[in-house]
Amino acid sequence: MTDQMTTETSSENSSTVASQPDYEVVIIGAGVGGLYQIKRLTDLGVNATVLEGDEDLGGTWYRNRYPGARFDSESFTYGYSWDEELLQEWHWTEMFSPQHETLKYLNFVADKFGLREHLQFNCYVERMVFEESSCTWIIHLKDGREITARFILTAVGPLSVPTMPRIEGIDGFQGESFHTFHWPSEPVQLAGKRVAVIGTGATAIQLIPEVAKEAQTLTVFQRRPNWAAPLNNRDISEEEMADIRKRYDEIFAACARTPGGFEHEPDRRGFFNVSREERLELWDGLYDGPGFGIWLQNFVEIFMDEDANAEFSEYIADRIRQRVDDPELAEKLIPKDHGFGIQRVPLETNYFESYNRDNVQLVDSSETPIEKITETGIQTSDQHYEFDLIVYATGFDAFTGAFDRIDIRGVGGMSLREKWSDGPVTYLGLLVSGFPNLVMISGPQTAATNFPRGAELSVDWATALLEHMWDSDKKRFETDLAAEQGWFDHVVKMYEPFLLRTAQSWITGYNSNLEGHEYGKTRYNIYNGGGPRYAAGLQKVAQEGYEGINIE
Ligand code: NAP
Repeated sequence: MTDQMTTETSSENSSTVASQPDYEVVIIGAGVGGLYQIKRLTDLGVNATVLEGDEDLGGTWYRNRYPGARFDSESFTYGYSWDEELLQEWHWTEMFSPQHETLKYLNFVADKFGLREHLQFNCYVERMVFEESSCTWIIHLKDGREITARFILTAVGPLSVPTMPRIEGIDGFQGESFHTFHWPSEPVQLAGKRVAVIGTGATAIQLIPEVAKEAQTLTVFQRRPNWAAPLNNRDISEEEMADIRKRYDEIFAACARTPGGFEHEPDRRGFFNVSREERLELWDGLYDGPGFGIWLQNFVEIFMDEDANAEFSEYIADRIRQRVDDPELAEKLIPKDHGFGIQRVPLETNYFESYNRDNVQLVDSSETPIEKITETGIQTSDQHYEFDLIVYATGFDAFTGAFDRIDIRGVGGMSLREKWSDGPVTYLGLLVSGFPNLVMISGPQTAATNFPRGAELSVDWATALLEHMWDSDKKRFETDLAAEQGWFDHVVKMYEPFLLRTAQSWITGYNSNLEGHEYGKTRYNIYNGGGPRYAAGLQKVAQEGYEGINIE
């Protein structure tokens, strides 16, 4: 360890950096990635801190408090894998943990490992500027403070900037209204209320059945339906948890060898090599089984071949028809513009049955679009609806949103926002040319996996790079344009064989609420080559002396 790692000097409120920065490493974000990152750095004795804009830790699991919010990942595949004692201590009570339990888990981790003292809350980063002369980042906080750091590791989350619709009158509504991401921490009274939910993505699909149970009336405004399949959640008994604890090595090994970082392994028999009866037998089992099995234990051809996809989509459509009493309504809930699994599949509990309730109504916004929000409700092209509460489940400015809202300035004042105006370009999803000494934990173009499995890869790789810097007494790293272009080309190539390339979703950068995010202007937000290939690539770069990265 070098002196730079432990020396604390203060350069508060100075725009030119003194000989030593305030921190060797600043991490931005105290969610799943940021907590693990600070654990790794404090174990090494590094002078590091976490700046968190919210008033507490948890990131996604602190914010998304809407009723029904829970994992779509099996709980025991989502927890951290890196501490045996933690694995043996923690009891997941449900196969798919609800938000409050996950938040409790993250708090438990922070307390167990003494991480809280390294977390600074209400520290919203507005601007960060790389100062070449001192090889240091100057971080400007919303409260006016300046903090300096040699290295910055962003752990800002891929889905942490909610987007509101651009609808006339949205600010004039006199009842209650909020985005799901801003669901209040105090209990929201739903009983006796006329509630509207706008949107039918994964969030709305979790929320709608819960609101339906409580509200006087629930009106869902659906522009495009989404394919969804049962979560099949259940409790985990003491005995089962004891078995899971014994199997953790096996569980994490399975997560490491599957493309999505789950235990679910694709069926490798080949869609066209088995009979229709065999396919139906597989699908019946998966539909009644837990979690993403229906998506990830399926035949890979479904995600690449239009005929295979059409046959499976029709199977799911039939299952929806069996669950919705009104055949006309069932047809409205079945997507016609894309096949199953091309967009991220929401998992549900009684979602389709919710529409059989007398107090639930679907408004098809593709037929009768929302024209404006009025003081008392929603005006569509067809009629006016009165509401007490409007919930916007209208999605996120995915991946780049959390970077765009910080004014990030690299070499020569280069703006990251401008560099990424047509979509992200990165090296390995972790580094950006022109932005030295910056690593993005689970940044755009990292592997799309069960989130913590990918975040742990990012954190371990970033930590190893920093250790390499300290061991060799280096101060500056930066990827080069050629390496960045090479990675971008590879990322694009990994979209090509998959029908997902046609998706109208955040995976391809679509968001009707954001300018420049129209359908067809593809943004390559994820690495679609799978976790194992991604992990092998990261390892190779490190082993070969950080190829594509200039270290000085
Ligand atoms: P989303 O998938 O982007 O869905 C947004 C929904 O809002 C869509 O139905 C969209 O309709 C609609 N919408 C947006 N703007 C609108 C407008 N101006 N007018 C009418 N409708 C509008 O967002 P999300 O549901 O929040 O989910 C995002 C991601 O978060 C998920 O895919 C998932 O990865 C993650 N998530 C995870 C979990 C979990 O792990 N359990 C739970 C929830 C979410 P269009 O399709 O027509 O644009």
